[in-house]
Amino acid sequence: MNDLEYNFWKRRISRRGFLASLGTLIFSAPFARHAFSKTPDEPSLVYFTRDISPQGVKSLLPLVKNKLHGNIGLKVHFGEEGNTNFISPELVRPAAEAFKATLVETNVLYVSKRRYTESHIKLAKEHGFDFAPIDILDAGGDKFIPAKTKHFSEVRIGKNFDNYDSFLVMSHFKGHMLSGFGGAIKNISMGFASVAGKMAMHASTVPRTSPDKCILCRECEKQCPGDAITLEPVRIDPAKCIGCGKCIGVCPVQVYDVPWSSTASPVVVERLCEYAQVISSLRPMTYINVLAKISKDCDCMSGAHAPFVNDIGIAASHDIVALEKASFDMVNKKLGIKDAFLKVNNVSGRPQLRYAESIGLGAASYKLIDIS
Ligand code: SF4
Ligand code: SF4
Repeated sequence: MNDLEYNFWKRRISRRGFLASLGTLIFSAPFARHAFSKTPDEPSLVYFTRDISPQGVKSLLPLVKNKLHGNIGLKVHFGEEGNTNFISPELVRPAAEAFKATLVETNVLYVSKRRYTESHIKLAKEHGFDFAPIDILDAGGDKFIPAKTKHFSEVRIGKNFDNYDSFLVMSHFKGHMLSGFGGAIKNISMGFASVAGKMAMHASTVPRTSPDKCILCRECEKQCPGDAITLEPVRIDPAKCIGCGKCIGVCPVQVYDVPWSSTASPVVVERLCEYAQVISSLRPMTYINVLAKISKDCDCMSGAHAPFVNDIGIAASHDIVALEKASFDMVNKKLGIKDAFLKVNNVSGRPQLRYAESIGLGAASYKLIDIS
């Protein structure tokens, strides 16, 4: 038993009494052995329960908690206004309470309540995430991390990332129009990225403009850090623009917009995986995917599409790629087809899994352990 295991059981024994802990120890010992050790040749372990309830989450936590220590951030997605498919706060609450965790998120790239810290936190609370502190990681700015990947020489994340020692990443597994599916990889790549980081993954050029809308308030000109904007008419100098995305958020009449179609789906997928790889190397992280209300679109959409498959369960793993592959397989199995996301979104989920594994983010081979 290593120090982490020792401390885990010591805390449980002091808190709940010896007999209760002995029972849990006997029950979970076969799982705990796998959770705490794995040789390179073994498939990664993915724990699964059909029980989509707070109790289901509680049953998974001891199996994947050994990476978590210190000040713990619980990465979630609070759901866009009008969306109802995001993870139920009742499933997040047990993890937040067990680890005294802070709910962490970043502001989004496009204009919505989730673009601005104050309205983002207000919306989160309206959506039921009112049981733990909330930290919008890029509220105080961003932080550039040097990188050497195919697409990036740096990744841009929320500055407050540094306040945490480890992260539990709880993700809603569902479809996504650009990457086929969106799960844990997307939750840590887009989800920890600052606005500028999101812009770097999504766009290959400067923001789009609709100059005719301009009311000449001059806010964009004042706030552009690249001194790239000239007015009358509105124009961005591509040689000066650093892709921070600030103009999109400050303009009161939405002259600026994200050039979504400037980057093809395969490139966005590679960029997501590379951001996830760099970010996951910065702190210990462990992952839980909730396979419920699985819609074709992500939770950033203001309307919620009806699920295209019945609810499946909750899965957890230390290996993000194994977890995503297991989630992908379970959706396909439930529908009896080979690639559900290709069918509903016309974008296969397989390139994301293949690229993630090829850059060493994790291993797609896994063993599913059903604890239901
Ligand atoms: S994206 Fe940033 S640098 Fe580029 S024009 Fe907008 S505010 Fe300026
Ligand atoms: S912020 Fe928008 S409205 Fe104001 S000057 Fe810039 S483009 Fe025009």
